[in-house]
Amino acid sequence: MKINAELVYRLRTRNSWTQDELAIATGLNLKTIQRIENKASASLQSKKALASVFNLDIQDLDYEDKTMKSCPECNSEKVYRFKNKIATNPECLPNMLPKLGSGWTKTAEFVPVICSECGYIRYFADEKSRSKLEGSEHWELLE
Ligand SMILES: [Zn+2]
Repeated sequence: MKINAELVYRLRTRNSWTQDELAIATGLNLKTIQRIENKASASLQSKKALASVFNLDIQDLDYEDKTMKSCPECNSEKVYRFKNKIATNPECLPNMLPKLGSGWTKTAEFVPVICSECGYIRYFADEKSRSKLEGSEHWELLE
């Protein structure tokens, strides 16, 4: 089942735990922790273990889809989301999210969403890049 990988990552790093340490605390194995954080998928058993370690209800770990459901321009419900994530190519496009990428390309990934009625387009940064905002020396929280 789906799990809020971003939340798991945030709670783990807030406790200054490595994936190894979270594995020990939950009694899950390291591969399971890695799958949870990278693929946002966990068994009910794993969810229960994480919820107990982080002192949460199991439902708090549910994946919440916050990308737009209706168009903010025309209110149409005909909104389409690309099924994969896309990354900008640092060699030919400016890096839209500097210092938030990972992997060898160091680029952050996006999910494009388009309204088929009016053509309104919106991009959502993926969880991994969003999780790097808090505590980043390059991004400041607007007050
Ligand atoms: Zn629209």
